[in-house]
Amino acid sequence: MKTIPYKLMLEENEMPKAYLNMKAFMKEKPEPMLNPGTLKPCTAEDLEPIFPKECVSQELNDTDKYITIPEGIQQFYKMYRPSTLFRAYRLEEALGTPAHIYYKFEGTNTSGSHKLNSAIAQAYYAKQQGLTHLTTETGAGQWGTALAMACSYMNMELLIYMVKCSAMQKPYRKIVMETYGKEVHASPSNTTNVGRKILAKDPDNTGSLGTAISEAVEASTTFDDCRYALGSVLDQVLLHQSIIGLETKTALEKYDVEPDIMIGCVGGGSSFGGFVAPYMADKLEGKKAPKFIAVEPESCPTMTRGKFAYDFCDVGQVTPLAKMYTLGSGFIPSPDHAGGLRYHGMSPILSKLYNNGDIDEVRAVKQSEVFKAATDFCKIEGILPAPESAHGIKVAVDEAIKCKETGEKKNIVFCLTGTGYFDMAAYKAYNDGIMVDKKPTSEDLEKGFAYIPKLDGIQ
Ligand SMILES: *Cc1c(COP(=O)(O)O)cnc(C)c1O
Repeated sequence: MKTIPYKLMLEENEMPKAYLNMKAFMKEKPEPMLNPGTLKPCTAEDLEPIFPKECVSQELNDTDKYITIPEGIQQFYKMYRPSTLFRAYRLEEALGTPAHIYYKFEGTNTSGSHKLNSAIAQAYYAKQQGLTHLTTETGAGQWGTALAMACSYMNMELLIYMVKCSAMQKPYRKIVMETYGKEVHASPSNTTNVGRKILAKDPDNTGSLGTAISEAVEASTTFDDCRYALGSVLDQVLLHQSIIGLETKTALEKYDVEPDIMIGCVGGGSSFGGFVAPYMADKLEGKKAPKFIAVEPESCPTMTRGKFAYDFCDVGQVTPLAKMYTLGSGFIPSPDHAGGLRYHGMSPILSKLYNNGDIDEVRAVKQSEVFKAATDFCKIEGILPAPESAHGIKVAVDEAIKCKETGEKKNIVFCLTGTGYFDMAAYKAYNDGIMVDKKPTSEDLEKGFAYIPKLDGIQ
């Protein structure tokens, strides 16, 4: 057996040269997105007014198992990748567990999370097509920051709609995006029809990702040479995020480590989908694979309590319909602190895999327990995690404690999606003992489900 270092390093030349397209490995494909007007599967022509052409081609591609990463994107990745895979020796010791714990840390780039992996791809393909502008939404701010960074690198303009409660909780995030030279509106705003309509009904609306998406899509159609970019959920985003899993697999194989359990948080599901991609591909080809556990907040329980149905991706109901786990596009989660996990829907790929039993388990966890795990982790391992990422830590620790009880020496690998530097308001609430756990009642959920469209002959 090889001695495993604290950091399972990769060389630049060991970085992946192609993304892994999980859909091409699935025997049962996810249901196609539907055009909300015709209720027919979306074609490239339907999607090309919204997204860059190459992104549309990737979105619809369910046959090519690997898609080459253009040289221009590989160059950008070299600024902050390969990201480090750590062996959590100190955490193992503190827990007294026989389990071996590993984590892939995506938080070392300035934007602070894995989101940059897809931001640069989408900005690159837009630039290649000759577009000049992108629009987007951002919840907690990580995606907006990542895309701001990618667009300024590519010399592209960017207009960002930031969920209002996050803009208030995280003023410095907004300043980072502005420092990269990009324009930020708190959403709902009065710059779009959708925003004005929502504000007329409810002037105190604190916003949601669903609302911000509607505004960004609407704004993208008001400029020529402008398209819209989305930071998660879409198949293309999972594709770009496969770089996380491919690097993880290369590094673990270098040291002959086979994961037994893979864990990650899910908001729209892109980091988890990318993290598990090569191992899930193995599973879909009938090979041995680890147990996959996704973790979501109890306050926004999309997979554990949502419905598997066609739904809109936004509140304004302007986007294509996707078959996914959903709480309904009108579901407004309590404005708690795991901003990046507050989305009503879930990646159609992950939804399909979960519905088919290929994702073994989804766990919903309480915010206070997540912050307990986060603060323990930063004291022991040194890294201050994003609250979203800490959902994964919580479950990794629970699994390691189970191993202590059973004496099993499992290899537990989790994805630490980002840094918590911009989440100090949340850490302060936890440190001051004023953090509350919010769990939606069945009634709250029913209100959200009422927004799921009833489609004749489809559902
Ligand atoms: C956005 C975000 C997430 C959740 O998004 P996914 O698409 O589910 O990966 C998780 N962690 C961090 C740090 C984020 O910024």
